[in-house]
Amino acid sequence: MNASRDYAALVQRGLSLDLTRGKPSPRQLDLSNDMLRMPSSYLTAGGADARNYGDLQGLPELRALFGPLLQVPAAQLVVGGNASLAMMHDTIVHALLSRMPGAARRWVEEPKITFLCPVPGYDRHFTICEQFGITMVPVPMNADGPDMDVVERLVAEDASVKGIWCVPKYSNPTGIVYSDETVRRLAAMPTAAPDFRVFWDNAYAVHHLTDTPVELADLLALSAEHGDPDRVLVYGSTSKVTLAGSGVAFFGSSPANVEWFLAGARKQTIGPDKLNQLRHVEFLRDAEGVAAHMRKHAELIGPKFEAVDRVLAKELGDLATWTSPKGGYFVSLQVPRAAEVVARAKAAGIALTPAGATHPYGTDPGDSTIRIAPTYPSLEELEQAITGLAVCVRLVAEEA
Ligand code: PLP
Repeated sequence: MNASRDYAALVQRGLSLDLTRGKPSPRQLDLSNDMLRMPSSYLTAGGADARNYGDLQGLPELRALFGPLLQVPAAQLVVGGNASLAMMHDTIVHALLSRMPGAARRWVEEPKITFLCPVPGYDRHFTICEQFGITMVPVPMNADGPDMDVVERLVAEDASVKGIWCVPKYSNPTGIVYSDETVRRLAAMPTAAPDFRVFWDNAYAVHHLTDTPVELADLLALSAEHGDPDRVLVYGSTSKVTLAGSGVAFFGSSPANVEWFLAGARKQTIGPDKLNQLRHVEFLRDAEGVAAHMRKHAELIGPKFEAVDRVLAKELGDLATWTSPKGGYFVSLQVPRAAEVVARAKAAGIALTPAGATHPYGTDPGDSTIRIAPTYPSLEELEQAITGLAVCVRLVAEEA
């Protein structure tokens, strides 16, 4: 195979393909079109009028539906707007400006705030930290979660470490799932900061690609058992269950943290969009309804993940390594000189997430990680894009 010739032919084709963000495809969104005619009644299960103000914490029937899926007691779950990212952002703003349970002072009064960032990770977590001047310390990611020896050492010795970002299930972008042992150690580890928090972004809790869903240990319950019930902040949403732009987001934690969070939210809003909440309850019904709906997603996107795996294996063999996730939205491709590969792909009309985006401050010290988001393009476009990407990987390897 001649990579220079293949690359010239690729550029010649004038492709325009986008693998940048993990968005559901139009066909996935179509799965929820019935919701556009809901709710059929504006009365909540308790008989209240959902068109009106109120119910800051969210409808109990929706909290009862998603509580078990996110491993949070319904009474300790809050329903927000359409973005869990907004709830993570708000948690940090509130922590900066109003004293969290267990905190000596507001975070803004601390000389330094540090967050641990398992890498590769989710770029938007890192940009929240960057926005507010929070120092980020990368922690290596293993096949069963972050390197817990490093995490335990850093949280024990440095009181400025107030948080860690975790995507515990079908992680973005590697697809790994935290092992029971990793979760147990996160719950049990001594921390120098009394107000240390695990930001447990369970964005892909129900997003399985196989018939054997992976189980995740219950960090919220384990932390309470280890005497630190306030350690864990759980987030999730239906962005990739129903409609990415019109889903519902969730925040769950200890009673004290929930009270603290709602105290902040109460000044922000008189109540959430309860018609959307009702629509979600009517459409998804119960846990089995969610599971059946997610199987339809898996039928649509499973073949796309298989295609990525197949094309990479055929075109690259052992020139690169990549993940084969059992759920979630991403594949992580490890190649030499990732930034150059992404630049070459861009010049050939294949848009990828910038190399480095999976690391704090946009800097991947190994220059090796490329995040592939296979869900949005059609299968045919995806195969073209991955074949083209493989040409770029071979070209850059040949030039080295
Ligand atoms: N968390 C993770 C790990 C994600 O990958 C994404 C989207 O890609 C989000 C959160 C965004 O979630 P939401 O749409 O609820 O803001």
